[in-house]
Parts: sequence; structure tokens; C-alpha cells
Amino acid sequence: MKVLVLGAGILGTCSAWYLNERQHTVTLVERQAEAALETSFANGSQISVSYAEPWANPQAPAKLVKWLLRDDSPLLFRLRADPNQWRWGLQFLRECAPTRTRSNTIQLTRLGLYSRECLIELRRATGITYDELALGILHLFETEAEFAVARPGLELMREFGCPMDFLTPAETIAIEPALGSYRERLVGAAHAPADESGDAFKFTQRLAARAAAQGVDFRYGTSVVRLLVEGGQVGGVLVRHGDVQEVLRADAYVVALGSWSAPLLRGVGVPTLIYPAKGYSATLPIRPGALANSVSITDHQMKIVFSRLGERIRIAGTAELNGYEMSLNPVRCHALTARAEELFPGVLDVGQAQFWTGLRPATPSNVPYIGRSPFPNLWLNTGHGTLGWTHGAGSGRALADLISGRRPEVDFAFC
Ligand SMILES: Cc1cc2nc3c(=O)[nH]c(=O)nc-3n(C[C@H](O)[C@H](O)[C@H](O)COP(=O)(O)OP(=O)(O)OC[C@H]3O[C@@H](n4cnc5c(N)ncnc54)[C@H](O)[C@@H]3O)c2cc1C
Repeated sequence: MKVLVLGAGILGTCSAWYLNERQHTVTLVERQAEAALETSFANGSQISVSYAEPWANPQAPAKLVKWLLRDDSPLLFRLRADPNQWRWGLQFLRECAPTRTRSNTIQLTRLGLYSRECLIELRRATGITYDELALGILHLFETEAEFAVARPGLELMREFGCPMDFLTPAETIAIEPALGSYRERLVGAAHAPADESGDAFKFTQRLAARAAAQGVDFRYGTSVVRLLVEGGQVGGVLVRHGDVQEVLRADAYVVALGSWSAPLLRGVGVPTLIYPAKGYSATLPIRPGALANSVSITDHQMKIVFSRLGERIRIAGTAELNGYEMSLNPVRCHALTARAEELFPGVLDVGQAQFWTGLRPATPSNVPYIGRSPFPNLWLNTGHGTLGWTHGAGSGRALADLISGRRPEVDFAFC
């Protein structure tokens, strides 16, 4: 079958890889000059099965009210005259019901476990390196109250197969000695020993290069303009390369355009609840000889993560729901580096921080759209929100199975 994949972020690239492996003839269209230059470029680098509890949880509404007016708050809604944002927000509130949070956490845990296995297998099969570290993830808690609130969600993930140990401060420092000066403020941690970290950009670029070598036709610098519907299915995709427009045709089409999937799909009457959630990252060199963390860290106080990428540390997090706007807010940038100084005083060269923002393709439940759209030959692999790197390999493989008429190996509510 001829398959046209739209978008060369982590999701589009993994989809193309597995489709090619299943003997399809794959073309991939990407507006940038290379793969992974948008949201998959500088994310938090965590392969975090253990961060499956979605933002939409029973505690979220009260927190959102508290954070509403703080420019440095972890999650910020900037209300706009945008019906898509309002629809998203209303569904987000519905997803905060305890039963919804539970079922979303279970779905995300299952997909995460499957995807981590797919990534490990892909790493072995291709030999791709990407500053990967298989040292687990530590979830840090500064207050007993925060730890108590997070514990049932972490226990639920453990029940569904994600190994998780609950640690005292001393046990936490034994696993990650770089946290030594933070010990007094720590009340405890959860350790997910099977989780990993690594550079999503390097991985995606290297996988794209291998896919191209194996026959996937990457059309970079080519923008998708719109989908063309003919006779109840997608008949082609109008694309633009410079001043030239052309229609590309295939037997099946995969939409993996991250936050831009929503407007494209709306154009053919396929509504999705994908809304951009802007996040920030800072990448800083480790000062020579300083003791930085090697184990990836999730700081539940500030809702940010710290991952080691060779001799750099990537700090990432925060979310702002404010449309497709991508400016760097200095207050939010400073919040990342200030927190790094609190956890690891003097360890990072803050003066050389490289700041970045990306738009997470967020759904209200954080559960992505993987599967068939209402059009029989139009497929979706999008809306992965906070976990697109964690779920990339597994989502790509599951979608390739579905398109090939096979049953995916993961228990997930495909669309
Ligand atoms: C601050 C931050 C931290 C994060 N941390 C983590 C983490 O630690 N772990 C984790 O698992 N996830 C994390 N994520 C989430 C993860 O980065 C995303 O879920 C993932 O990158 C989404 O990948 P994607 O392929 O769907 O989208 P993208 O990477 O955005 O790919 C979409 C591609 O489509 C292309 N495109 C868009 N429109 C068009 C068009 N019209 N024509 C042609 N091409 C087009 C874009 O150029 C882009 O390359 C984080 C995200 C952010 C912002």
C-alpha cells in the first residue's frame, strides 16, 4: 500500500519507520528542512511511563484557580475568544472526575509500558544512540500533602505494571547523590526504576536518516495546505513547496502534525480536541567537575523535570494554554533556572542557558488519538500532549499494525 505520512516529529517518524518495516511504500511530508525541529526538538527528554496521571485530575480545578493570576505558575490558562479553547477547557473539567482520571491513567500506563519496550527494541535493532540513560526516574516531593495526593496515582500505575518504589530522603540521595544539598527540603520520593531518558531530537533525526536509507521518501520543506475529500474518502493532499503547489496521492494518509493536526482536520469536518499547550525548556552545560544528576528527576513541587543529556542538563515543564503563540516569557524562563539553582546549587552554568518553547498537542485527557478517522483511509497519530516522546515508538508501531490489518499488541482504546 502507498501511505503518505504528514509531519516528521517523533510520531510521524516512528509511524513511517514501522509502516516501511511492514512493506508499505511510504512518503513523509514535512514543512521544516529536517525532522524534529518543532515540539520534538527540546522536550523534557523523559521516557516516563510513571508520569501517566494526566493534568486533568480531581485536584486540578482548585490548583488552576490558585495559579490563574501567577505568571510563573506550572499550568496557566489565558482565556481567549476562541471556541476551540473553551470546548477543550470544558472537556478538561469533565476529565477531572475521579473515574475519568483513573481510566485515563490506566490507558496511558499501558501505552507507556508498551512503547518503552518498542523503544528499547528499536534501539537494539538500529544501534541509534541519543544520550540515553536507563537509570529510572525519581519523583521528588517537598510536602507530605503533595506526596499523599500523588501516591494513589503512582500506586495505580504500579498495579498496572509500572514498577515503583517509595523512598525516604536518605534512600533518594543514595540513588541520586547530586540531590545531597536538597535533602533537608525533601520529604520523600517515588522511584520508577525502569523509566529512561534521552534526547528525542537526536533519536528522531537518526531514525529518520535510517528510514530514508531504507526507502522512505522524506519530502522536507513541503507544507501541507489541505486534505482533499473525494467520494467519501481522502483522495489526496494539497502541498506547497516554495511557490509550487501539487496534489500528492496515496492509498492511506496519516496525520501526525502535532498541534497543527487540529486545524487541518477541522478543514474536512473531523473535530478533535487538540489544543496547543505551550511548554518551556532550558538546556544548560554542567560546570566542569560539578556533580549533576544522572537519574532523571520529576519535581512535583514545580511540575518540571531535569534530565541529563551527556554534559548538559535539560530542565523542562510548565504549560500555558494561549493558542499558537510561541514567544519566550522571561518570567517562566527564570522560574526554570531558579529552581535548578535550588536543587543543584552552583552545578549548572546558568549564564549559558538555551531557552526554548514548544507546543504540546494536548487533549483534555492527555490520551492521544491513534487509529482511524471517520474517513476510511485517513489515520491519526496525534494529540500526545505531555508524553509524545514516551509514547512515540509504541504509537507508531500500533498504528502501522492497524493500517496493515493487524491487531496491535497493546490494550488501548484506539479510535
Ligand atoms: C516543554 C516540553 C517538555 C516535554 N517533555 C516531555 C518528556 O519529558 N517526555 C515526553 O514523553 N514528552 C514530552 N513532551 C511532549 C512531546 O515533546 C510531544 O508530545 C511530542 O514532541 C509531539 O510530537 P509530534 O510528532 O506529535 O509533534 P511535532 O514534534 O510538533 O511534529 C509535528 C511535525 O509536523 C510538522 N508540521 C506541522 N504543520 C505542518 C504542515 N502544515 N505541513 C507540513 N508539516 C507540518 C511540524 O513541522 C513538525 O515537525 C514535552 C513537550 C514540551 C513542550
